Amino acid sequence: MIDLMNKTDSRLLSDNVNINGEGHLTFAGHDTVALAKEHGTPLYLLDEKRIRERCRTYKNAMREAFGEGSQPLFASKSLSFRRIYEIMAEEGMGTDIVSAGELHTAKIAGFPMENAYFHGNNKTDEDIAFAIDSGIGYFVCDNIEELRAIDRAAAERGTVQNILLRITPGIDPHTLAKINTGKVDSKFGAAIETGQAAKITGQALALPCIKLCGFHCHIGSQIFEVEPFLDAARIMLSFAAEMQSIYGFVTEKINLGGGMGVRYLPEHPAIDYAKNIAEIGRVIKDTCAELGIEQPDILMEPGRSIVADAGMTLYTAGTLKEISGFRTYVSVDGGMADNPRYALYEAPYTVMLANRATEKCDTVCTVAGRCCESGDLIQEGVALPRPRRGDTVAVLTTGAYNFSMASNYNRLPRPPVVMLDGDRCYVAVRRETFEDLVRNDM
Ligand SMILES: *Cc1c(COP(=O)(O)O)cnc(C)c1O
Repeated sequence: MIDLMNKTDSRLLSDNVNINGEGHLTFAGHDTVALAKEHGTPLYLLDEKRIRERCRTYKNAMREAFGEGSQPLFASKSLSFRRIYEIMAEEGMGTDIVSAGELHTAKIAGFPMENAYFHGNNKTDEDIAFAIDSGIGYFVCDNIEELRAIDRAAAERGTVQNILLRITPGIDPHTLAKINTGKVDSKFGAAIETGQAAKITGQALALPCIKLCGFHCHIGSQIFEVEPFLDAARIMLSFAAEMQSIYGFVTEKINLGGGMGVRYLPEHPAIDYAKNIAEIGRVIKDTCAELGIEQPDILMEPGRSIVADAGMTLYTAGTLKEISGFRTYVSVDGGMADNPRYALYEAPYTVMLANRATEKCDTVCTVAGRCCESGDLIQEGVALPRPRRGDTVAVLTTGAYNFSMASNYNRLPRPPVVMLDGDRCYVAVRRETFEDLVRNDM
């Protein structure tokens, strides 16, 4: 594998993407055209080394900025299968899970349950029982009904359950840290502004089989600036100080959620996560000093920024359809069933022809999926060399919220996940078969 280091092509978003001497796109040092041939398409690729590097970036930067009790928790809704939890356990990461299914997957991977945090705005009694019986470390509680349900379940088992409370700090991260009362209107958490957050804190402290350990917030996702996180830290610490003065409650942990952005397009900035974390650390130290409170242990919950640029999806091009005066469609052998994000919210992605990576991009294409749904598009307005049937189409930065959001719509079997680890590559999730599709049909 000869790497040209052709860094003049701005579409090579990340240093694990390159072009080799044959003009083929490479990922984590592997020829993607060869991988497509070997494993078939559609195909999810994951760069294991990159995932581990990102975990270490968060761990080291957080230890430096926040001290020993800090911990990054991998938000596993972004990418959930057994092997991922093994990697997270090996890297000493905590994990955030949002369903009994994610919990089960973490459990069979041997993930240490004391480092798992159970999220969600509507945990069922069955979820709660299963999680407590599995030894879940913490619930991140959303509302009073849930608090009572957890208290009841813990009482029945003669235990006391650790929890955090999900608080809505009232930050709109996309309008540069402006305090936006609109954010009070959320299905998640209890808002500080309305007094709900203070009230639920009192209620949590009064329940005998619950131990309140601190507060959680999550202000949004794909955030490029650091200011919203600084504001969140200040607001959460002020809230902690207020709870100390009202109830005498000393906050052990503050979880600042996930949300740091990643580079999907050449015009997006490459974010220095360690630098952001250091800045958050300074603000936390200063704010605690101003408020006269002990610094709590700080948790963060990155999902996207751990795995997004560790992923790439490969497809095979099929039909090319030129609609004179309108546009050119190139259809691929996957689509919204393996990546619903463009159909859901017009998420941006960079697309390349992996087998013709150095050729001139002379055709503006709409990359369409194969589902019977006109909204089934992967991306619009993509400049490519005029595609031909059989070309390998690569969509970059698909590590987060692609595999985990995949469905069997149109009875398409889900693609496999192939892990690239140095020279080695291995199948972490096998391709679904037609038998898998009908397995539960009685
Ligand atoms: C989705 C989510 C995350 C992860 O967000 P990213 O943008 O992927 O980092 C973390 N915490 C909570 C509560 C979430 O809902």
